[in-house]
Amino acid sequence: MNQTEAIERAKEHFAKLLDSQLKRVEQMKAGEDWADYSELKPIIVGVVGGDGIGPYITKEAVRVLEYLLQKEITEGKVQLRDIPGLTIEERAKANKALPEEALAALKECHVILKGPLTTPKKGDPWPNLESANVSMRRELDLFANVRPVKVPKQGIDWIFYRENTEGEYVLGSKGFNVTDDLAVDFKVITTQGAERIVRLAFEYAKKNGIKRVSAVTKANVIKTTDGKFLETAKKVAKDYPDIQFDDWFVDIMAAKLVDEKRRKDFKVIVLPNLYGDILTDEAAEFQGGVGTAGSANIGKRYAMFEAIHGSAPRMVQEGRAAYADPSSIMRAAVMLLRHIGLVDQAKEFEMALDICGQFEKKVALTGRADGASGAEFADYVMETLKDRNLESRWKGFQR
Ligand code: NAD
Repeated sequence: MNQTEAIERAKEHFAKLLDSQLKRVEQMKAGEDWADYSELKPIIVGVVGGDGIGPYITKEAVRVLEYLLQKEITEGKVQLRDIPGLTIEERAKANKALPEEALAALKECHVILKGPLTTPKKGDPWPNLESANVSMRRELDLFANVRPVKVPKQGIDWIFYRENTEGEYVLGSKGFNVTDDLAVDFKVITTQGAERIVRLAFEYAKKNGIKRVSAVTKANVIKTTDGKFLETAKKVAKDYPDIQFDDWFVDIMAAKLVDEKRRKDFKVIVLPNLYGDILTDEAAEFQGGVGTAGSANIGKRYAMFEAIHGSAPRMVQEGRAAYADPSSIMRAAVMLLRHIGLVDQAKEFEMALDICGQFEKKVALTGRADGASGAEFADYVMETLKDRNLESRWKGFQR
């Protein structure tokens, strides 16, 4: 192939990609408005137990939620609803990553608390289904991956808003070799995609009384796409005059996260896909084990909250499922409460988790029978929630 032919072939390929991306923009433009939870009665919280240790830890998170939300549940403001049909056995039987009935049931909820779902791999007794998690994110258009990182002893209290559907990844498998020597990949940022993630980050700050949002790009070098992300962020920031907005380049941000003097100042951090992928892994290292971390996948209409870990089949095989740490999914439940506007309840739950899991540790989980069970930990959390001086007790540990 001569050079002219190679360029013509590349143009054709490029035209197809642009076509698909412009269609995506149109879909986003036509998309729904943000759900307004204050107008909903009841807010339906779908609960998916999941696989392996999932049902064990989810059950404990639900027990604490039922305790914490007694008033809201009695008054019909919040409804917790079990969503069946999503265990690996049920998905295998239906031969679908997301069986239709279960998907329809999920779509009747407003938010979802989800235990880990097993994804079949080679050698497993199930059909080679797509990951139900990936499928759920796509079906429910959950474009924001939200991951808090908290190390109270070090004054770290960050929350990352990583864009989940664009950047370097949306066409990650669609790059091409123009010739044997020239390889090209694509990065895509849209006004709509950038705006919805940045606005979500600001709304979180506003709802939770947080006074700072930082954007991370490399707009000094990647001028067009990161430039658009940054410009969009600056525009959105104008709608939130009470919140300080600043922007950082990703290289210096990676350095500042390890700078003990500076890092305490960061609060809400919003960033495109690849930078989010890298920085959230860096940040999670400060926090500790997977059993302690929750994350959220958020879209305009739906949102799903989960532990960052999987179904831990080995713990189940070894009879240790009851000893799995439920803090991960409880932290996810804290995020869920914040998302639906139950900020005070979220704060109480979070303080109780800090006290029980990080500071006081009167009931210690080891993942084995020599430590506490998840149920005992949940009892301890609920006992702590009863404390009328919860906040001052929590503050006492900060000193
Ligand atoms: P995993 O996260 O399930 O477990 C790895 C190890 O981490 C466990 O053996 C256990 O020692 C420890 N661990 C995890 N959670 C714990 C908890 N709450 N308390 C104490 N210890 C805990 O990783 P894996 O074995 O790679 O994945 C198992 C299955 O989960 C796979 O099918 C995978 O696809 C799936 N998975 C699902 C999700 C999700 O639902 N979002 C995420 C990751 C993995």
